[in-house]
Amino acid sequence: MRSRRDFLKNTTALSLGASLVSCEPIQERAPEKKLSGYAPSERLSTFRQIVQKPVLRSELISSSVWIESIGIFKSGEHFFTKVTSKDGVTGISVNNKKYIESIYALMYNRVTPHFLNEDARDLDRLMDKVYMSALNYKWQGLAFWVGVAYVELAILDLLGKVSKKPIGELLGGRVRNEVAIYHASGNRGNRPEEEVEYLQGLIEKSGAKAVKYRLGARMTYDDASTKRDKALIPLVRKTLGDDTTIYTDANGSYDVKMGIEIGKLLEEYQTAFYEEPCRFDHYEETKAVADGLNIPIAGGEEEVSMRQFMWLMDHNILSIVQPDLLFFGGLTRSIKVARMARSIGIDCTPHISGKALGFLYMMHFASCVPNIGNYQEFKGNKDKVPVFSVTSSLQPKEGKITVPGEPGLGVEFEPGFIEKAVKITTI
Ligand SMILES: [Mg+2]
Repeated sequence: MRSRRDFLKNTTALSLGASLVSCEPIQERAPEKKLSGYAPSERLSTFRQIVQKPVLRSELISSSVWIESIGIFKSGEHFFTKVTSKDGVTGISVNNKKYIESIYALMYNRVTPHFLNEDARDLDRLMDKVYMSALNYKWQGLAFWVGVAYVELAILDLLGKVSKKPIGELLGGRVRNEVAIYHASGNRGNRPEEEVEYLQGLIEKSGAKAVKYRLGARMTYDDASTKRDKALIPLVRKTLGDDTTIYTDANGSYDVKMGIEIGKLLEEYQTAFYEEPCRFDHYEETKAVADGLNIPIAGGEEEVSMRQFMWLMDHNILSIVQPDLLFFGGLTRSIKVARMARSIGIDCTPHISGKALGFLYMMHFASCVPNIGNYQEFKGNKDKVPVFSVTSSLQPKEGKITVPGEPGLGVEFEPGFIEKAVKITTI
């Protein structure tokens, strides 16, 4: 197996050149003050240039789209965020019930005021503004950025409808219409034989050529989980055969010693990536595991800071970055992570918050990001949101799913879903 170091070293120069050639002019911004005794690496300087580059192709939208109202609505068991323009056009993002029940007050108090009465074509500036204004940076965290993501996704749906373009066209241009998917098992604690049978079922159901299973005991490990790990790793490869791409996720279970021990076993059985071997914010431990192995380390689903992603990539810790499209604040911020990753020749395979339309947001991200990796996690419409698309079944066939081609999110709702919804308000 080629070492991670060789891989990163050999691909960086090539993809950095390609990426910079395609860059549009960078937005004017005051230069950062030089700190005495500190100089950022060349790579970090490139990352900083990339995050300043706008993601939305606002030139595709010919006139202003003033945002008149933003509301959170409940329709049956579902929740959605609706953005309405002064011209009466609406954009919708369907929201995870569990999240919205906890964060709606934060959305109304900290997020929506910064987008009201603004031109939606200024989305890149508005994403900066929502973070910097009213001391919102002090609120940075999953709960804040999920709310931003829901507003951003509704704005993108609105802009798509106004410009009659799918979201991927607005965010850099579509590079693919079909996405190869994988399913992830959420199981732990079952017997290895049972888990392998379950994985086979996942593959048969969708025709996927890849699968992911879980290791450890989530943020910890014990004798029972270690025994299961050591039996499961060879059994999965033996049963699924050499042609299946196998991913694993430890959800931060290990310390360095066990992380390396399990990692070496994963290498022996040709595992394609090893996700979160150590706790997500234990950067030094994750680096020690990465340095001790050749298998690509994946991670980033819990990150909320652009700067932390820069640091993780600048230090060669992650070989696949996985911003969560909601936790990290939406598509435009996640695309900036993907662009930084591309500049050093690595993939950005996003983490998908399940529920609601998480699977659809992934499809639009994948439609316009070149370096998504071979397979994307697919969780499907498990909440049975009443949506349909004329151009996509929204279901995988032979391991691939078609990205809707209609404007915005590319889906329509069953009659009454929007009209009968009740607005949620704060006290
Ligand atoms: Mg994970």
